[in-house]
Amino acid sequence: MKLTKVLAAALVLGVSTMTAAFAGDKGTVGISMPTQSSARWIADGANMVDQFKAAGYDTDLQYAEDDIPNQLAQIENMVTKGVKVLVVAAIDGTTLTDILQKAHDAGVKVIAYDRLIRNSPNVDYYTTFDNFQVGVLQASSLTKPLGLEEGKGPFNVELFAGSPDDNNATFFFNGAMSVLKPYIDSGKIVVQSGQTDFQQVATMRWDGATAQARMDNILSANYTDKKVDAVLSPYDGISIGIISSLKGVGYGSGDLKMPYISGQDAEVPSVKSILAGEQYSTIFKDTRELAKVTVKMVDDVLQGKEPEVNDTKTYDNGVKVVPAYLLKPSLVTKENVTSALIDSGYYKADQLK
Ligand code: BGC
Repeated sequence: MKLTKVLAAALVLGVSTMTAAFAGDKGTVGISMPTQSSARWIADGANMVDQFKAAGYDTDLQYAEDDIPNQLAQIENMVTKGVKVLVVAAIDGTTLTDILQKAHDAGVKVIAYDRLIRNSPNVDYYTTFDNFQVGVLQASSLTKPLGLEEGKGPFNVELFAGSPDDNNATFFFNGAMSVLKPYIDSGKIVVQSGQTDFQQVATMRWDGATAQARMDNILSANYTDKKVDAVLSPYDGISIGIISSLKGVGYGSGDLKMPYISGQDAEVPSVKSILAGEQYSTIFKDTRELAKVTVKMVDDVLQGKEPEVNDTKTYDNGVKVVPAYLLKPSLVTKENVTSALIDSGYYKADQLK
């Protein structure tokens, strides 16, 4: 008898969970993403829409195509339409102060997604990856194959960073420099261009063509009689620009070996480039996991529960330290493409052929 009752209760519970899981029951979540020019953000958007739907929410997903006024207008529109929560990956993390004040006044909760939103008290939580660790992994993927840890060198290394208006870019660069700086100081790494400050090496809007033009200049000004051994690149799209520039002067053919080049996001063209022996490494950040953590966080916040965070110190946005949930990034080279990206179901083997 007892067991039947338990089973019946479980059934009722199951049914009510299912009812709650119909999209739309719990209101609308506004998702503001920066651009569709990079596959990772398309995956982020799609994963969130699926997972929010499964949790009973409607979604309003907008891409701003790296245009700041466009992103502000899209967010404003979401607030006007009455979304309950905003999940925002900012183009420029410093531009949202006014619109987030409006959102706050309308009772809308705000989650900074992947990129920290700066200069605003109205950022409730932050979900991201350990961004400093991303940089550590990127730089270590260069120092290891070069043999710097065993005392080899000196090697010629050039440095690239991401967009100066994206808070992550500084974290990636600082993480990377925590590994590279001691070798630069000891002379085991030589940056022939002399460009080692964040501002000198930053790449506005993470643009591959901008990086390619900078690499062209570096090569013609410093490497006519020297060879580049490695390039720190913060993002796959930038690595593609750097590789084009290097190919343009003959790297990767004859006995001019392609330098070790890092990347980030495990985007399909770059994973193919890794398999072809051009790009050396990338960083895999599982966007399915980031979506999962974000959806759970939103659900908790809307139910008045304290969401789980695992970092309450690192992300000071200029006004407050934003409580964050950090996921672990992982390094991908030719050796572990299959286990990291295919066995995990992130890509199908065919996609990488
Ligand atoms: C993200 C990276 C991405 C970059 C360019 C950063 O904010 O964290 O994953 O490579 O933006 O889109």
